[in-house]
Amino acid sequence: MTMPSRTEMNRAEAGQAEVGATEPRQDATSAEERAALVEAVRDFADARLAPFAGRRDADHEFPVETLREAGQLGLGAICVREDVGGSGLSRLDAVAIYEQLARGDIAVATYISIHNMVVGMIDAEGTDEQRRRWLPGLATMDELASYCLTEPGAGSDAAAVATTAVRDGDDYVLSGTKQFISGAGTSAVYVVMARTGLTEDGGVDPDKQGSRGMTAFIVPAGAAGLSFGAEEQKMGWHAQPTRAVVLDGVRVPAADRLGAEGEGFGIAMRGLNGGRLGIAAASIGGAQFALERTVAYVQERATFGQPLATRQHVQFELADMETELQAARALLERAAAKLDARAPDAPVACAMAKRFATDAGFRVADQALQLHGGYGYLHEYGIERVVRDLRVHRILEGSNEMMRMIVGRAVLGGR
Ligand SMILES: Cc1cc2nc3c(=O)[nH]c(=O)nc-3n(C[C@H](O)[C@H](O)[C@H](O)COP(=O)(O)OP(=O)(O)OC[C@H]3O[C@@H](n4cnc5c(N)ncnc54)[C@H](O)[C@@H]3O)c2cc1C
Repeated sequence: MTMPSRTEMNRAEAGQAEVGATEPRQDATSAEERAALVEAVRDFADARLAPFAGRRDADHEFPVETLREAGQLGLGAICVREDVGGSGLSRLDAVAIYEQLARGDIAVATYISIHNMVVGMIDAEGTDEQRRRWLPGLATMDELASYCLTEPGAGSDAAAVATTAVRDGDDYVLSGTKQFISGAGTSAVYVVMARTGLTEDGGVDPDKQGSRGMTAFIVPAGAAGLSFGAEEQKMGWHAQPTRAVVLDGVRVPAADRLGAEGEGFGIAMRGLNGGRLGIAAASIGGAQFALERTVAYVQERATFGQPLATRQHVQFELADMETELQAARALLERAAAKLDARAPDAPVACAMAKRFATDAGFRVADQALQLHGGYGYLHEYGIERVVRDLRVHRILEGSNEMMRMIVGRAVLGGR
């Protein structure tokens, strides 16, 4: 089973310039093509994710072999150009894919989204040499990637990054701690945001404070001085590991700097636009799974001599759940189309969609649990896992308060 790539979908007509990752990307996938894509991914999720999601959650198993199968399907570099093994698809395609993956297993789907965020950053911001060196192995998911921005003292305030990168000859020397890094310890490639622009006495050049003094680096797992914290014990997302990443004098050749010095904050934020779409799509997919289960359950479960589905209250709840998910999907597709088109307001649209879809997805999942009564609280029914997994979507890749900040500023005309 292989997912059709952009070329296979016959879009690379003779003479047509390759659509660069930094150029506007047309979403040229027809409705039939997207339906075929969704079906292929749904088959994969039904066969390789959903049946094992409960066990992986209970065992805290990160299914690396299944990720490689996803890579073989073309899911390791969804929006990456095809010359380095990418699938060359649009953001609109990608959100449809993540939704289907999350119907099977939210924690696996979101890791695939994070991996794709990093891979997309290397494709969009890397030199040709970097693209050719790093991307083929990442596209097949033989190698996995992690995004390293957050630190103990820099979460929502991402510009407060304190990890330093000091130039030493042809290398930079990186020191600091990254917190909450998805995939850490298993990933082969870490894109690390660190502070450059330091003065000789260890201070920060006044012109390079905050977001202006950040630079991105590609760090391989085997680098001397790189180590990982213990696996965090989390409420959800058990099927992917979260660990601290410790950089203790890690030497990174200047050739592995991603983008120019001082561009790291912009690179990190541009990556997050797509990342937020993936998290939003996974919220919709997870909630859709919970809703489908609930629709079946309320028709079977009878109380006071009648199936729950005959109660108007239950019908109204289902109506609201369906409406919220459709509204979230519409907002998400709008944001994905804007990101494909490189519209100037795409980051605001991504923030709006992320906030709305992750709140809506969580509410729908929680209501699905409520409609299952006590059974919803049991592992066996698979609903409580969805609630636990979706909770963190309102916090990470920019908390929903930060999303409101982005949207609010835009509403106020950029202030
Ligand atoms: C499971 C998991 C996986 C993660 N994976 C990654 C990863 O792979 N890579 C990575 O770099 N990071 C990752 N993160 C980190 C995540 O992005 C941060 O947790 C998130 O950005 C919030 O930062 P914080 O936890 O420091 O909270 P804080 O920034 O301390 O915020 C605490 C609360 O205060 C609110 N708040 C903060 N400032 C304001 C303000 N000015 N106005 C109003 N409200 C405010 C926040 O919205 C939040 O509700 C992960 C986190 C988790 C839990």
